[in-house]
Amino acid sequence: MMEFKPVRDTYLPYGQQLIDEADIEAVVKVLKSGYLTTGPAIREFEIKVANYVDAKYAVAFSNGTAALHGACFAAGIGKGDEVITTPMTFAASANCVLYQGGKVVFADINPETYNIEPTEIEKRITSKTRAIIPVDFTGQPVELDRIYEIARKYKLVVIEDAAHALGSTYKGRKVGSLSDMTMFSFHPVKHVTSGEGGMITTNNKEYYEKLIQFRSHGITRNQEKMTETHGPWYYEMQFLGYNYRMTDIQAALGSSQMNKLEEFVLRRKNIINMYNKAFGGMGELTIPYQASEGDSSWHLYVIRLNLEKLSGDRKEIFEALQKENIGVNVHYIPVHLLPYYQQLGYKKGSLPQAEKLYEEMMSLPLFPAMTNQDVDDVIHAVNKIIAYYSKGKGN
Ligand SMILES: *Cc1c(COP(=O)(O)O)cnc(C)c1O
Repeated sequence: MMEFKPVRDTYLPYGQQLIDEADIEAVVKVLKSGYLTTGPAIREFEIKVANYVDAKYAVAFSNGTAALHGACFAAGIGKGDEVITTPMTFAASANCVLYQGGKVVFADINPETYNIEPTEIEKRITSKTRAIIPVDFTGQPVELDRIYEIARKYKLVVIEDAAHALGSTYKGRKVGSLSDMTMFSFHPVKHVTSGEGGMITTNNKEYYEKLIQFRSHGITRNQEKMTETHGPWYYEMQFLGYNYRMTDIQAALGSSQMNKLEEFVLRRKNIINMYNKAFGGMGELTIPYQASEGDSSWHLYVIRLNLEKLSGDRKEIFEALQKENIGVNVHYIPVHLLPYYQQLGYKKGSLPQAEKLYEEMMSLPLFPAMTNQDVDDVIHAVNKIIAYYSKGKGN
């Protein structure tokens, strides 16, 4: 019997941070400074991101989920309000609505872009709809023009979940300056990291001020906003906020990482070009479709299996690739199928496009620290496994 030899000896994850000496020095500098939190590194990071995406304001949060919660608060989402989002996302895009007592309404995806389908959004609007949370899935910007047409018509706030899309552009303009509020995440698998971290960018001063106050207990020290004056020590808690502050340690890492964002995005594009070239002609799978109005910064590379041309299902192919030490992943289990949402009454079968995609999709490793050898290993392993399961042997 022949001994099984995996394509790789070591496991290749689907995503990973790239930290260099400059990042380490930036963090050490803060550790030796007078501020570990609520210091100057926070403003620096906020200004850096705001300038990069061309937004007026940015507010840093302890993580992207907290930032989404803040955005829902600032948008005025409350008990009974309905917010429309996509099922093809991480749970946080929907959970933030529940934190505010709102109701999540899922609208199905477009089967080509995998992003929320604007016509599906419009079908689900009621007198209780207050906001839309579209997600730039894998980094591909959502159809903002069509979404804003709907938002203006029904007076809805748009909170763009751009956790995947730092560095992406829509019709030549940076994601982060285009929506009422835009959320970025700095989790280690995202484009740049602060360990944990999130940010909202906005051009709206009112949202900005609410977000600043929300992330720190609902407290203000702004004299102009206070209703009483006790003395110089006085601060005022005006609504129930949270401690969602980012530390200066995180912000310093984030700022240092921002210096490399363009380079990281270029490397990601480089890798996906190699993938597209290798997989573009294979009938057994579909490579990611990209609409012409957007330019993705490529958080994820999602392939779709054409199961009628394969003798194995997604699970078998997924497991076979893992045995080759390729860190494949599935982004995402549609949110309405998660047990918590099932308990809330969301039904399987209600969002057929997202559910069908879920059965057929797989994310391949994609991160700037990948070497060309790593990329070749992924291509080699996918070719090997698809050839094994192919019904048509090459078509
Ligand atoms: C990562 C992510 C989030 C949440 O960000 P955290 O910083 O991990 O809290 C939200 N939405 C999407 C689509 C994400 O990928």
